[in-house]
Amino acid sequence: MSSCPVEARWWPVWAFALLLLASGCAEPPEDLPDDADAPVVEAAPEAPTSQELGALVERSLEGSQVQVNADTLLDVIGARVSALPSGDSAEAFVERRLEAYGVPRVWRESFPFLAWDRREASLEVVTPEEGVEGELNILSLGHVGSYEVEAPIVDAGYGTAEEIEALGDAVDGAIVLADVGAPEGYGRGVHRTEKVTLATEAGAVGFIQVNTTEGPRIPVGVATLGDEETELPAVAADRASGQALRGALAEEQPVMVRLTVDNWMERAETDNVLGEIPGQSDEIILVGAHLDSWDLAQGAVDNGSGTLAVLELARALAQHVDDTGEVPYRTIRFAFWMGEELGLYGSRHYVETRLDDDRIQRYAAILNLDVVGDPVGLGAMGRPEAEPFLRQVLTGVAEGGIDLDEAVGTRGGIYSDHQPFLMQGVPVLSVRSEQRPEAAGVSHTIHDTRDVIDEPGIARSAAVSAALLWAAANAPDLGLERWSEEEIGRRLEELGVRDPLERAGEWRWP
Ligand SMILES: [Zn+2]
Repeated sequence: MSSCPVEARWWPVWAFALLLLASGCAEPPEDLPDDADAPVVEAAPEAPTSQELGALVERSLEGSQVQVNADTLLDVIGARVSALPSGDSAEAFVERRLEAYGVPRVWRESFPFLAWDRREASLEVVTPEEGVEGELNILSLGHVGSYEVEAPIVDAGYGTAEEIEALGDAVDGAIVLADVGAPEGYGRGVHRTEKVTLATEAGAVGFIQVNTTEGPRIPVGVATLGDEETELPAVAADRASGQALRGALAEEQPVMVRLTVDNWMERAETDNVLGEIPGQSDEIILVGAHLDSWDLAQGAVDNGSGTLAVLELARALAQHVDDTGEVPYRTIRFAFWMGEELGLYGSRHYVETRLDDDRIQRYAAILNLDVVGDPVGLGAMGRPEAEPFLRQVLTGVAEGGIDLDEAVGTRGGIYSDHQPFLMQGVPVLSVRSEQRPEAAGVSHTIHDTRDVIDEPGIARSAAVSAALLWAAANAPDLGLERWSEEEIGRRLEELGVRDPLERAGEWRWP
């Protein structure tokens, strides 16, 4: 479903008429704005002054609607599962908010994906007959179907490639036990999807991820990054359950367990929700957040916080345009991705559909807001050359009363919606932020609730992001080029993401 630019008070009448023509309203084509060929006006961009950026930050903070949006997004809608009614409600909610904020173009883009929902999971010890001390608490990981397996367990430490290999034949036919994270000094994190793949390749018939922090927390997540179901039952357990199984293993072997999992899975479609403030050129600055969450709680940290931030900055930027009558040089596009938690489906689809005709060339930079707290600094993944531009933004933001780290970050990783853009060489900007201590480790658990997020911090991050986006949309020269194909591979290697991309079958360089 798409909608017409109903509210464009600030837009000059003639430009509005052109916009209507370009978009073919009343029924705009589904993928309207990227296809709008001719820029409305050609004018030289003018960099905003630090006073202008400062004023944008101040006004953004004054009008904050983070709290009122959290009332609906988190308290009324809550968990937002793609293709289930909760996900649909969330899509409708952000769409209505963008329209209410006067964002001139709001539309949806559908994509196919493998929808998934949790049913049951249980783990029982078969031998030793006396079982283990305490209860075994598990939750299924995503994209796991229905299974009942009985097999011995093997302890694979953190489940890294080296540890799985060291176990040799013992993994074949066994259920692998692996801690969250990576051994000390390993040099990089190891994602659960990598571990599930490694265990599957080594012949395992089950996988149990053990949490590394004490307490009843069981972090879940998707078990495969591909568009497919797992070949084995993959579940997550709390710390105590993992320790109980390891205790049994230390006493006598084998320890046989019965792992039973039942879930719902179906091919389905769902929608990304998009909006934009059209610019004067055909270049685009995109800011996105994934709107979907895990099913276990409100998804407040992951990613209610980012969703609230993007709504907030869309409001602030639409207001800024309305107040000043300025039209940004580059289009500013807002994206609410669905299907992120099950494998970055929404953002992957978005990027893929813009590759064939090379529309991806139009993306001058993107910003991904996934897990947002109080802002601490700015960055650009793998791009030290972004420093002069980011320094100007820092000065403007400070003018608005928010002091950030002087140092500009260049680090980056994968596993969120910037990944498909990063892998096409599109410049990826970042606003680094800090969570409240209570929010540590709550992502993907039953504890990801509204009380742990920092709503004033999210409003500040949104204000900083609004200034960053406005500056990026109007900079005469951002100083950021899209990387060539060869350069993408080189930079990704520098960012330290070659291994996980290879493991996921996504490394396309020699
Ligand atoms: Zn997330």
